[in-house]
Amino acid sequence: ASAEVATPKRTKEIIAKYGFSFKKSLGQNFLIDQNILNKIVAAAELDETKGALEIGPGIGALTQRLAAEAGKVTAVEIDNRLIPILRDILADEPNTKVIHGDVLRLDLKQLFAEQFADVSGVSVVANLPYYVTTPILMKLLEEKLPLEHIVVMIQKEVAERMAAKPGGKEYGSLSVAVQYYCVPQVVCTVPHTVFIPQPNVDSAVIKLSLRNKPAVDVPDEEHFFRVVQASFAQRRKTLVNNLTAFVGKEHREALTELLLRNEIDPVRRGETLSLEEFARISSSMLEAGW
Ligand code: SAM
Repeated sequence: ASAEVATPKRTKEIIAKYGFSFKKSLGQNFLIDQNILNKIVAAAELDETKGALEIGPGIGALTQRLAAEAGKVTAVEIDNRLIPILRDILADEPNTKVIHGDVLRLDLKQLFAEQFADVSGVSVVANLPYYVTTPILMKLLEEKLPLEHIVVMIQKEVAERMAAKPGGKEYGSLSVAVQYYCVPQVVCTVPHTVFIPQPNVDSAVIKLSLRNKPAVDVPDEEHFFRVVQASFAQRRKTLVNNLTAFVGKEHREALTELLLRNEIDPVRRGETLSLEEFARISSSMLEAGW
């Protein structure tokens, strides 16, 4: 295999050799630190029976490590200028495939069927482009892909929101959505100095372990998430005020009774409610025809 890409020297050499120029609009910040790579790869719990899907391989810093650890690696890169570079750098990795495409537009179910039919489990492992972190993660979760773990480098604040517990200001609809599908764990925080070029924000590696079934039972997922969204619509408003805006003013009293019946104080704020409490409210509201 070729020398490790993720060092300042080698990364600069590759960039110079191919005359590559970074596109800020694609969130291109390449990792140049072996220590952080070790932590990402260790968290993914790979072995030769496992598959890894990488989103945004860049010049292959993480890809070459995944190739060494997993049985099968598929990496999806949007920037066509990187494809020939990746093919060179990964030339000696027969278990690794590079696909040119926008992960948000790809049919991932089909990709899984084609690339990962013969592995015992698949995890997503990536240093994500920050401008599309949330859409990418929501796509992975909502399509209910058969994933074991999602281990990704993302903006630190977003990682904190995903892992937040009820009661704090970081807790919101993103926390509920992620925790409905996964058990989150912040693996480490990462200073901006370990990238070329350096991003303006600090980063963190988060590990999302997919649950066998969602954290709470809800009769209608879409409705559950609409109720959650509505509960956080205006963060300083009480639950009853936010939900009244959702069901209509004329139902304010009935809504108050519904909350009380569910042992939820109507003047609490959305940010104090657990997933279980949101599930209770959503079920009762459905029954009430809301
Ligand atoms: N994995 C490399 C590393 O760690 O050094 C690069 C990470 S860089 C933060 C993000 C990568 O995602 C870039 O290579 C960028 O071109 C790619 N990218 C951006 N948007 C994408 C999309 N929608 N689909 C696939 N790749 C994308």
